[in-house]
Amino acid sequence: MAQDAQRVAIVTGAARGIGAATARRLAADGMAVAVLDLDAATCAGTVDTITGAGGRAFAVGADVSQADQVEAAVGKVAAELGPPVVLVNNAGVIRDNLLFKMTENDWDTVLGVHLRGAFLMSRAAQKHMVDQHFGRIVNLSSSSALGNRGQVNYSAAKAGIQGFTKTLAIELGKFGVTANAVAPGFIQTDMTAATAARIGVPFDDFIAHSAQQIPVARVGQPEDIAATIAFLVSEEAGFVSGQVIYVAGGPLD
Ligand code: NAP
Repeated sequence: MAQDAQRVAIVTGAARGIGAATARRLAADGMAVAVLDLDAATCAGTVDTITGAGGRAFAVGADVSQADQVEAAVGKVAAELGPPVVLVNNAGVIRDNLLFKMTENDWDTVLGVHLRGAFLMSRAAQKHMVDQHFGRIVNLSSSSALGNRGQVNYSAAKAGIQGFTKTLAIELGKFGVTANAVAPGFIQTDMTAATAARIGVPFDDFIAHSAQQIPVARVGQPEDIAATIAFLVSEEAGFVSGQVIYVAGGPLD
């Protein structure tokens, strides 16, 4: 790829939260960004912010757990913006419950979006990266990979993402493609707001209580994660691969 060609990134689950912040950041760093979410219409806010700031963005709708939709979406991005060489597998859902109350559907949905989704998106995008002899894949893991009450499905998926990432790094390294995982702690988004609602605690109280347990004495913001991802997808991060970076305001056990 020519040094001065604009790189094309796909960020999944980019209608809101960490995905939206990441899409904005990568566009600010000079990339053309495909803003992918379940429904293309929900991506309008992210796309408008990027284009309003002079960037290039394209909304694309797909359920990342569905192979046909993923293939079609990646094809559309390549046709509209150019070959995608940066992929951020960020789309996610939670279906929290204690093991004895967790349904098979709760399990399958969470594993389907996080793990199968990351697999399908990476498989579809890697051929463009290999063709360009350059690629950057960042997968969203979580501090919950270390274990978290009420999240057997989510913690299994997020731990699985770490093994998936290391294997991508091993398989794709010789093609100029790196793969890393970012594992956030508490980030203030709709997802953590939903957790507060589920346990019946006002979100502000939940944030204040969580901040007391975090060494830097605050919860994270989507931009904290976007900044870490921005480094991992940069040219200069080419020797960083197969890593899991916890971004949690302090060390985790
Ligand atoms: P969020 O605010 O809930 O946003 C997730 C986005 O993913 C939503 O726009 C959602 O679309 C989209 N999505 C869900 N299922 C999808 C599918 N099948 N295909 C395409 N898009 C789909 O979540 P967030 O807090 O920003 O989290 C982003 C990522 O970081 C997730 O992987 C999450 O597990 C991880 N993470 C978050 C935290 C945290 O504290 N927030 C901590 C650790 C890890 P809809 O709105 O249409 O559902």
